[in-house]
Amino acid sequence: RSTLRLDKVLTHMGYGSRSEIKKYVKQGWITVNGVRAKDSGMHVHPETDVILLDGEQVVYREFIYVMLHKPPGVVSATEDNRDRTVLDLLEPEMLAFEPFPVGRLDKDTEGLLLLTNDGKLAHELLSPKRHVPKTYTALVQGDVNDADVERFAKGVTLDDGYVTLPGELVVLERERQGEEIISRIELTIHEGKFHQVKRMFQAVSKKVVYLKRIRMGNLDLDESLKLGEYRELTESELELLR
Ligand code: URA
Repeated sequence: RSTLRLDKVLTHMGYGSRSEIKKYVKQGWITVNGVRAKDSGMHVHPETDVILLDGEQVVYREFIYVMLHKPPGVVSATEDNRDRTVLDLLEPEMLAFEPFPVGRLDKDTEGLLLLTNDGKLAHELLSPKRHVPKTYTALVQGDVNDADVERFAKGVTLDDGYVTLPGELVVLERERQGEEIISRIELTIHEGKFHQVKRMFQAVSKKVVYLKRIRMGNLDLDESLKLGEYRELTESELELLR
C-alpha cells in the first residue's frame, strides 16, 4: 500500500492549507497511531494509519462523486475568466478534493452534472466507445412531429456534416403560445458532440429554447435538489455508473 505525506492527507480531506497543517503539527494537535506527529511531511498510510487531529479521527478517502443540479448561467469548467463556474457552487470541503465536471453542459443548460476527482470513472463515462446514454428534456420552438422522431431514430446530419448516432425522441406535449407551437420533448442520445441536442433540432429547422439533462447512464437527476444544489452520490448510485 502506498503512502502519502501527512499534510497531503489532511489538505485533501479539507482540514486546511499545508501551512495550517504545519501549524497544527507544531502545536502537537496531530497524532499518527497514537504518536504525536513531528513533521507535517512525514509519510503515512492514509487508509490504515489512525490519524487524529485534536482527538478527532481523520477518515481518509481518495475520491468524491457529486451530483449537481446545474443552474443556468454557470459554465461547466474548473476556471473561467468571465463566468462563474460550477465549482463556485461547491463548499470548500468539496473543493479540497479537486473535483472537475464530467463532461459539459452549455452555460444555459440545466440539470444533472457529475463532478468527481476520479479520472478513470470520468474517462469511462465520456469515452466515445461506451456510448453512455444521456437523456434530456427540452422545450422546442415548433411542432415536433413523427417525421422528426423518425429522422432522429436514423441519425441526423449536423451543420458540420457529422451524422449522429440514432437518438430516441419522444414528444411529451405540444402547446400553442400565440402564433407558435412549443413542443415539450425528451431525447436520449448516445454521444456528446458540442451543442448536440441544439444542433440536432437545428438540423430539422427547430430551435431548443430550454434544455435540461435528467439522466446519464443509469443515473437519474435527484429532483429534490433545487437548481444549484448538490449532494454526494450514494453507494448504489455510484454502482449504477460503473
Ligand atoms: N446538448 C446541447 O446542445 N447542450 C447541452 O448542454 C447538452 C447537450
